[in-house]
Amino acid sequence: MRHGVRILRAVTSHHRPGGGFRNPWVAQAVPGFGGLLKWMLVHRTTRPRPRDPDPSVFVRVTPAFARPRATPEQLTVTWVGHATLLVQLGGLNILTDPMWSERASPVRFAGPRRWVPPGIAFDELPPLDVVLQSHNHYDHLDDATVRRLARAHAAAAWIVPLGLAPFVRKRGVRNAIEIDWWQEHQISSLRVAATPAQHFSARGFGDRGDTLWCGFALRSGDGRSVYFAGDTGYHPEFGKIGERYGPFHVALLPIGAYEPRWFMRYLHMNPEEAVEAFQKLNARAMVPIHWGTFKLTDEAMDEPPVRARRAWKVAGLPPDHYRQLAHGETLVLD
Ligand code: ZN
Ligand code: ZN
Repeated sequence: MRHGVRILRAVTSHHRPGGGFRNPWVAQAVPGFGGLLKWMLVHRTTRPRPRDPDPSVFVRVTPAFARPRATPEQLTVTWVGHATLLVQLGGLNILTDPMWSERASPVRFAGPRRWVPPGIAFDELPPLDVVLQSHNHYDHLDDATVRRLARAHAAAAWIVPLGLAPFVRKRGVRNAIEIDWWQEHQISSLRVAATPAQHFSARGFGDRGDTLWCGFALRSGDGRSVYFAGDTGYHPEFGKIGERYGPFHVALLPIGAYEPRWFMRYLHMNPEEAVEAFQKLNARAMVPIHWGTFKLTDEAMDEPPVRARRAWKVAGLPPDHYRQLAHGETLVLD
């Protein structure tokens, strides 16, 4: 017994002793409420912020995923916007962090507003088999979207990190599976693993860290593989994720919401860190996500991909393996 307890402790360091979750690599990823006030009231009012482009620079194109399903040998990725993607893998339709609402916010009248309509209209979605939910922030977990999906795609299995199943069940989801970091769940020939991420969770006051956050590694029966990072700062375990679940055909990595660094650095990677993470992950191609859809932080809306491309070039990576998508664009990997 004693031995068992010791092992449990070693693998559960992201579990807070009194319940809930924490980042095992940094004492505190989020500056406290004082930090938030400093950002909102001091930093933002005393420093010039870079200008955003006109929203028309972000185009939306017609998706070209296979309907109703791709064959088991096909792998397609369609960017709906932000962290929402339709992945066709192993003959299944998989959706990540579904968000179809106008604002990423607890209320309808305020909060970051969508710059580009969803790349796939909700009613144009193919029949969904799996929904992956990385954590509970409003730009990733949307109350109205969960309810709509639970009605329109009742057969889908939702895979969520620890503590998040009650939220989706309460909104009508019938099949919700909670997994911890490094745990796996099998759906027909698809293996889904939750992977570590450096981030936090909260939807209101006093609930920080109550539910877990994660990324996901996916592998089909014939060995096709996708890594979806969720929201994360740069942490020391990308190499381990690549060793355990790679090589990946494609890594879906966040590149936006990183300024100011003193506030965001432990929560969100900047483009240079995303490229560094890519190199650790043992992945072939990268699709940048978490930019261009909602303005959440202080960098200009069109800056992340410019810096990501530059970092990609500096790292000497093959130019055609950086696969930046427009909203709605489908990438077909062979
Ligand atoms: Zn988040
Ligand atoms: Zn986010």
